[in-house]
Amino acid sequence: MISAASTIRILLLDADADRPHPIIAALLEHAIEWVSARSDDPDMGLRSHGSVDAVLLEADGAGSDVLQACARLRQCAGNALLPIVILMSHADERFIEKACAAGATDCFPRTLSARRLSLRLSRLVDAARMQRDLTTFQQRAGRDALTGLLDRHGFITALRSAPAGTDPVDGMTAALVLIDIDRFKRFNDSLGPMAGDQVLSTCARRVRAIARAFPDALIGRVASDEFAIFLPRLPDSASAHRAAQRVMHQFSRPVSCGGLECMMTASVGLAHVTRCQPMTAERVDGLMAHAGMALSAAKAAGGHVVRAFEPGVASGRVSGLDLESRLHRAVERGELVLHYQPIIDPRTRRVTGLEALMRWQRDGQLVPPDGFIPLAEESGLIFPMGEWAIGEALAQLGAWRALGLAVPGVAVNIHPGHLARSALAHAVEHCMQASGLPASALQIELTETGVMRDIERSMESLHALRELGVQLALDDFGTGSSSLAYLTQLPVDTLKIDRSFVQRLDHDRQSHVVVRSIATLAQALGLSTVAEGVENAAQLDALRSFGCDTVQGYFFARPMPGGELAQWWSRFEHASRHCEPLLQPS
Ligand code: C2E
Ligand code: CA
Ligand code: CA
Repeated sequence: MISAASTIRILLLDADADRPHPIIAALLEHAIEWVSARSDDPDMGLRSHGSVDAVLLEADGAGSDVLQACARLRQCAGNALLPIVILMSHADERFIEKACAAGATDCFPRTLSARRLSLRLSRLVDAARMQRDLTTFQQRAGRDALTGLLDRHGFITALRSAPAGTDPVDGMTAALVLIDIDRFKRFNDSLGPMAGDQVLSTCARRVRAIARAFPDALIGRVASDEFAIFLPRLPDSASAHRAAQRVMHQFSRPVSCGGLECMMTASVGLAHVTRCQPMTAERVDGLMAHAGMALSAAKAAGGHVVRAFEPGVASGRVSGLDLESRLHRAVERGELVLHYQPIIDPRTRRVTGLEALMRWQRDGQLVPPDGFIPLAEESGLIFPMGEWAIGEALAQLGAWRALGLAVPGVAVNIHPGHLARSALAHAVEHCMQASGLPASALQIELTETGVMRDIERSMESLHALRELGVQLALDDFGTGSSSLAYLTQLPVDTLKIDRSFVQRLDHDRQSHVVVRSIATLAQALGLSTVAEGVENAAQLDALRSFGCDTVQGYFFARPMPGGELAQWWSRFEHASRHCEPLLQPS
């Protein structure tokens, strides 16, 4: 990591490299060393000067040769993360767009003072280093430190990179089995986290043993107490069901834990497809979503069972179409509800906002998002649902404020596909007017991966939302791969650090590097951070030491119905006033 005092070395590419602009000459006083080369052969300039931290290109007039030089540099191997900055003779939006398309990391006006220029350069260099750390880590990671199995990210990546070859395997069945240990928390709670780890290690051994019977199986630990087995070549669907049953029996044998023999059972979700076509990334995502729905159904049935995804499994016996029309009606009948989870500044112990999380109140049961959001996404219902959530969250915010609760704002999750629809900005504007609240009271959360998938379109809509004054957050940050060039241009305010990193802080030193890198990256880009999924004081301490601005997680509060907030709020304020230990999970 670079400290304020260390020197940065930049390569200046200029048509007239012998007589640089006076602002460049002044950079030396600000700990920025430069070497120069002519801009007509940028790769040569870079090669002859060895390693530099950034490249500065001076644009004159229309600057088209600078854009060419920029594009050439960016395409050279090893330069993907190198900050390339264009110094413009005058600010011009069209030029900035073209520069970004050519791979420039940022464009600065030449009117900046040398001091400000050096400051902005060193921030970019910092951000690029952090991103390099993060990328290296992500490439190395993908393994779960406790069990040595692939972690969720590694498992999904491996699945997506064409399991068992890319050839269609005519008539074979591919199956995904998800296993969740029933009431795993009791091992941790009653015997301590070491005992919990021991159970997980035993489970990992069982998963490996099962996989040995299927030579091309892929296995992973995809969540804290959730394991996955992918079987790409089974003769038929009956074999998939048999395999899932076998898994459940293997997981329902006693485990030794903290010196005791303990009973254990597991819930199993199965999804399978007949492989007439290769497994594309979309099919893999679909299979994961379906196995997840089947697992939710197994849990909802009380655990210790196998449920297979047949369209409609999430609702028991209804068919997929039925479920879809029930979800349709749910929107109209008001069966969707939002629960709210506080986001807290750990230094001031103040609530800085709340995240709205959707649930479906169906037949007296509260269905969590993974039981219906995938279907809503598939059917397009996610769009009206997202718009409903914005209106509902703002109405709730108005109601809390009327009660005297100083809730600063609410964050609503929006499906990134919504950005491609111009209706989103209109809907937001309409909701803002209806609520009478300032636009800054609303934050929209969009997943990093979703935004980056269609960056051109996303950029346009994000700007439209930003113009309305709405706050924007990149959700699940760290799980996708944002390019720094886009991050510097994206009009977002906040990065939400994915909870998988926060939860690994307990076991795994490398996740400290990631979280610290993201926090520093955010600071370098002037963005704030929220760390998600904070469950204990040790994670909180680590996050504070990394400079994370705010945190969210069961340690402070679980998501709760809007009507329960006032009571939680007064308990929280009381604890904060009396400097009592921060609230424990309820
Ligand atoms: P997310 O946006 O990452 O939401 C955070 C999830 O983390 C929530 O799960 C929350 O309950 C959970 N969480 C918070 N603190 C902790 C903790 O300390 N430990 C653990 N283990 N989990 C914690 P939830 O409510 O089940 O939501 C899951 C996902 O469903 C959300 O992930 C989001 O992607 C999606 N979702 C929820 N509501 C909506 C919505 O209104 N619209 C859309 N498009 N997606 C939604
Ligand atoms: Ca979220
Ligand atoms: Ca998240």
